[in-house]
Amino acid sequence: MNDRTEVGSTRPYWWIDGPPRDQENRSLPQSVDVAIVGAGYAGLSAAITLARAGRSVAAIDKGVPGEGASTRNGGITSGNIRLSHRQLTRRFGRERADALQLEAKAAREDLYRFIADENIDCDFRLAGRFAGALSQSQYDELAREAEHLRRNLGIEAYAVPLAETRTHVGTDFYHGGSVRMDVGGIHPAKLHAGMLRLAEAAGAVVVGGTAITGVSGSEGAFTVATDKGSIAARQVIIATNGYLDGLEPWLQRRIVPVRSRIIVTEPLPPGMMDRLLPTRMMVSDKRRLTYYYRSTPDGQRLLFGGRDGTFEGDPVWPTEHLQQEMVGIFPELRDVGLSHSWFGYVAMNRDMLPRVFQRHGVHYATGCCGSGIVWLRWAGQKVAEKILGAPSRSALDFRPPRSIPLFKGKAWFMPAVFTIMKIQDRISMADGVAGRGGRRLTP
Ligand SMILES: Cc1cc2nc3c(=O)[nH]c(=O)nc-3n(C[C@H](O)[C@H](O)[C@H](O)COP(=O)(O)OP(=O)(O)OC[C@H]3O[C@@H](n4cnc5c(N)ncnc54)[C@H](O)[C@@H]3O)c2cc1C
Repeated sequence: MNDRTEVGSTRPYWWIDGPPRDQENRSLPQSVDVAIVGAGYAGLSAAITLARAGRSVAAIDKGVPGEGASTRNGGITSGNIRLSHRQLTRRFGRERADALQLEAKAAREDLYRFIADENIDCDFRLAGRFAGALSQSQYDELAREAEHLRRNLGIEAYAVPLAETRTHVGTDFYHGGSVRMDVGGIHPAKLHAGMLRLAEAAGAVVVGGTAITGVSGSEGAFTVATDKGSIAARQVIIATNGYLDGLEPWLQRRIVPVRSRIIVTEPLPPGMMDRLLPTRMMVSDKRRLTYYYRSTPDGQRLLFGGRDGTFEGDPVWPTEHLQQEMVGIFPELRDVGLSHSWFGYVAMNRDMLPRVFQRHGVHYATGCCGSGIVWLRWAGQKVAEKILGAPSRSALDFRPPRSIPLFKGKAWFMPAVFTIMKIQDRISMADGVAGRGGRRLTP
């Protein structure tokens, strides 16, 4: 590790102002209407909806509730669907493609309403998101997408030509991009803390440090085994997303836990943030390796995230790699140190869609595909509404994701996938450089 990559802490930056609560002193009830496995956004969202409807609920987490992805993410409320409308139509038909896009909009708006109505102090700011293109063809695609969002979904979105890029991002790295104003930033740990408070206030029991080791029985009469005793439950919800374990080997063949990493800089010198992110928008780019960045809510530091590339241990190179990418975009950050670097797991699946489904009577809300602040809170709510007998169905609610050949839960292939995507990104970027008459994008 060189001097610049010497990192102060491997704990999430968010835990300074929003340390997760262990909840280990809560006692496990003997029987409940609904037992929920996992107390991240999905589990707590289901717990709030069910408890407010008068159901007895226990949300049980093997670790500290929130210590999964829900207090360690980038805090960008993207509600992203990875597939384009055309790809969705090809795979799932026009009707579901339209419904999914409408539901993404509804889910995003529902989150914003929830934060406001419930007075959750989570530094929410509807700042907008700039997406950067690496080549002319990517710019054209972003411009088409912005047009589609504006015309068909009524979302304020527009293309940003190369000459205007610096209005939003202080770099010459991009070949233009697009802006959509329906995406913002939150403090993810404060959102989780707010949801935990609401769940408990509604009467749900949220227990930490208790692993669920087995679920047996059938709908209406489940026995949920934990390492601290068993509970009887009429319904069970699995909300384990990228932190799934041996509880359900069939699920482990369908959900790939992919490591995602975030680095945070030391406080920037005065005036620097105004040059890097003049409008304080959230930023992502079109690279396959999915880099994203934003200012911390206090405007002092840059938070930069992307794929980690490993599946075990905690080597230094992913931090160095992210730092190199960050400096590639903002050469001014070359001499700025890092205060934090941490990783967490997102949940991918073959359909590249978050999902709600039921199997052998058990309900599932899972598969965030990297974008779960909007989607998994919504999915937890949808599962709860289904249990409560709500007539309307979610477009996320269909068959379980398909299994992945030769995969049993350990993403051993991630380093190879990372390398392939890195090469693909280099090729896209070389196209971009050629398209700009050979002007280099990186220092
Ligand atoms: C580094 C990183 C950056 C991200 N950035 C963004 C972003 O900017 N925007 C965005 O929208 N999304 C982002 N995400 C994704 C988002 O954080 C997740 O999709 C979301 O938090 C998932 O919530 P969840 O409740 O489904 O799962 P989690 O919060 O991961 O919770 C699952 C819980 O299940 C528990 N569990 C598992 N097995 C058991 C068991 N057997 N018994 C009991 N408990 C169990 C785990 O302990 C864990 O606490 C990011 C994720 C990461 C890791």
